Amino acid sequence: MPALPLTDLPPAPSFGATGEAPSLVGLTREGLGDALRSAGVPDRQIRMRASQIWHWLYFRGVTDFAAMTNMSKALRESLAESFTLKRPEIVTEQVSEDGTRKWLLRFPPRGAGRPVEAETVYIPEEGRGTLCVSSQVGCTLTCTFCHTGTQRMVRNLTAEEIVAQILVARDRLGDFPDIETPQGAVVPSEGRLVSNVVMMGMGEPLYNFDNVKDALLIAADGEGIALSKRRITLSTSGIVPMIPRTGSEIGVMLAISLHAVRDDLRNELVPINKKWRLAELLDACRAYPGVSNARRITFEYVMLKGVNDSLAEAKELVRLLKGIPAKINLIPFNPWPGAPYECSDWERIEAFADVVNRAGYASPIRTPRGRDIFAACGQLKSASERVRKREREAAAAT
Ligand code: SAH
Ligand code: SF4
Repeated sequence: MPALPLTDLPPAPSFGATGEAPSLVGLTREGLGDALRSAGVPDRQIRMRASQIWHWLYFRGVTDFAAMTNMSKALRESLAESFTLKRPEIVTEQVSEDGTRKWLLRFPPRGAGRPVEAETVYIPEEGRGTLCVSSQVGCTLTCTFCHTGTQRMVRNLTAEEIVAQILVARDRLGDFPDIETPQGAVVPSEGRLVSNVVMMGMGEPLYNFDNVKDALLIAADGEGIALSKRRITLSTSGIVPMIPRTGSEIGVMLAISLHAVRDDLRNELVPINKKWRLAELLDACRAYPGVSNARRITFEYVMLKGVNDSLAEAKELVRLLKGIPAKINLIPFNPWPGAPYECSDWERIEAFADVVNRAGYASPIRTPRGRDIFAACGQLKSASERVRKREREAAAAT
């Protein structure tokens, strides 16, 4: 389905006030069954109803119980009294000159607390489209090259909020099938706009394991969003104890934010390295459940001028990864205001890539996308803060 021009899109639905009904989005199948039971659905109907609702939520993307036409009107009305299906509010929607799109989403408090905001980025490429999803608002870790790391950690996102990022992207891109489809049909993997998901937005996904797990298992469920686990990648700064569980319980592809080949430098750039050293991290990668030449681990390496970009380090990188089925992703550093680093010169990135290439790793440089809308790696949240500052200043001036 072609993407709609933004001007033709319907207005984004928004959440109501604080204290509204709980959502059915983001529950495991079992959790969905429990929720239906609590709303008075008889035991013998639970499985069937959960499966019907699952189809409407994740295959068809409906946001209103009234649309669930294979259930009685009375049941639909009663569910609508107990639960909500509303999407988070889209605060801003920006489109880069390269087609990258970034949404700032506002999630209402469920119960106590304040609304929180997080960003989601869509990166269209030839033959595929990748959605970069956030797992936390802010990050507790303080990687020195990452803007998210300079921002206060607000809280973990819930499974609902993580799944909602995928649903909002599919709504806005026109990526839900709009034809009547027999229940249980499989979403075609060809021609989908969101064909890949990467947990590479704000936050450290392995510090929010349970919610990330529930959300990714929903994304991979064949009766709903139905993304193959090989098209879902979780990126971690190296929370070693959670790596085996990521493989065995979620089973998605793994990416490691490596960025340095020596402990002393990695301690500085990715301070969690002081807790779990390179050797332990690489051991966990070697033992990653399901790793093989067909399912390689991606090692991300941000190119920082004069810091980690010598050719000796490129050779050491290749040596360190020997024996691990690996892909290497060199990420040109994306600057942000006040960042203490510069991006390596292009010639240096190419020379570094040559060393990596000669060792048998294909096309390792990641093209920066969406820099003009601050949607590139490590830039998330920054623009929204600036916009708000401008809004505050404008409000103060009137
Ligand atoms: N917290 C997780 C996932 C989010 S970061 C992690 O650290 O892996 C996604 C990727 O962007 C990571 O590899 C991160 O190191 C990288 N990154 C962060 N800031 C960056 C910047 N300013 N320029 C380029 N890449 C950056
Ligand atoms: Fe957190 Fe990842 Fe940024 Fe490090 S690179 S501060 S772990 S989001």
